[in-house]
Amino acid sequence: MTEEAVAAIAPQPCSACRGSGVVISNLGGEPQELACPWCDGGGVTLREHDAQAHWRAAADAAAL
Ligand SMILES: [Zn+2]
Repeated sequence: MTEEAVAAIAPQPCSACRGSGVVISNLGGEPQELACPWCDGGGVTLREHDAQAHWRAAADAAAL
């Protein structure tokens, strides 16, 4: 296996939270720490993970 192939499948630190698993949301005017929706708080980029689906689901739940 080439190094390139290994790098392609190795877990990549989530760029949205820089691997911390936490993002700061300023919604509501107060900074809040939230579990990163892009990596579900794991700090590692999830392949095929659709962060937008998270927001759609939340919107759908709010609309019910
Ligand atoms: Zn993240």
